[in-house]
Amino acid sequence: MIPIAKPILGECERKKIMEVLDSGVLALGSYVEKFEKRFSEYIGARYGVSTTSGTSALCIALKAIGIGEEDRVLTTPFSFIATANSILYCNGRPEFCDIDEETFNITPENIEEKLCQDDRIKALLIVHLYGLPCDMKRILRICREYKIRLIEDCAQAHGAEYRGRRVGSFGDLSCFSFYPTKNMTTGEGGMILTNNEELAENCRMYINHGMRERYRHEMLGFNYRMTNLQAALGLCQLEKLDGFNERRIQNAKFLSENLELIEFLETPHLPRNVKHVFHQYTIKLNVERDGFLEHLSRSGVGYGVYYPRTIPQQPLYRKLGYDEKFKIADDLAKRVVSLPVHPALSEEDLEKIVSVVSNYRK
Ligand SMILES: *Cc1c(COP(=O)(O)O)cnc(C)c1O
Repeated sequence: MIPIAKPILGECERKKIMEVLDSGVLALGSYVEKFEKRFSEYIGARYGVSTTSGTSALCIALKAIGIGEEDRVLTTPFSFIATANSILYCNGRPEFCDIDEETFNITPENIEEKLCQDDRIKALLIVHLYGLPCDMKRILRICREYKIRLIEDCAQAHGAEYRGRRVGSFGDLSCFSFYPTKNMTTGEGGMILTNNEELAENCRMYINHGMRERYRHEMLGFNYRMTNLQAALGLCQLEKLDGFNERRIQNAKFLSENLELIEFLETPHLPRNVKHVFHQYTIKLNVERDGFLEHLSRSGVGYGVYYPRTIPQQPLYRKLGYDEKFKIADDLAKRVVSLPVHPALSEEDLEKIVSVVSNYRK
């Protein structure tokens, strides 16, 4: 079976992990600081605060801008559940607006429509889904005009660029995940980036029990600190990130060149002026999905369905009283399939994926 995701770990990781073990510094340590510095420099943000996961990074970013009881945050209905859940963790209220059919991201038009209708919305939480940057120019203009905060969920977009600038450098804060299926990994892990010193300091306190000074607790914080072991992996993976992304882009190109003429599917759209880093290679089907998925399974091609239902249609959200339907997002939730695109694929793997997909119903 060709897996849908596979981390690539090597000598660098092995060596650095052994160094950490030998040093005995397992929790906070010099690699954590170094990783925060290198990663924030790479993305183009002044401050980096590492965390235990992408989820905890999102939760803390929202706390840092003061999201609390009943505060409304606008986000996409088409993402991993953690995006919207992070708003719930702060006792805030997620609000959703529809996405674009081609990019899978929320659109400036829909964001603006929602902000016009509801002046209680305090922040916008965008997701660069599958590694494709949102329409940043128009989104930044809207945030300025309506005076709302912007948080970027970059959990799928390490190294993605919008007009030559890396995503994660646009928002008031941005959040990354280093889960093993992402474009780079630390096992579990996450990072918050910002250019704002005060917000950085806030995040730093929230992830460490509200402490600035030792054992003086100024607010209700958490233990969301990254470990030295995770950071050691992160330093190695960051060195390889551009190479990994290049492979993803080449793999996606090969798949699109060979699949674009097939009538029962649509290959991913590539807008101009962006670098799409293909966390996922997601096609849209024009045929019934279950049969196609069964064909992939039988033929040894792994796949993912990201995501089979929108967030407001999840049982948790239904129970909370959400039941919103979205024309585009609900339709896409029924039609998307992600094929393997990760950097560990061989040429034979890629050819097999193409031939298995092409041979469906022939
Ligand atoms: C993976 C992911 C997260 C959560 O990251 P974890 O490290 O798994 O907690 C959040 N948002 C999106 C869009 C993701 O893909």
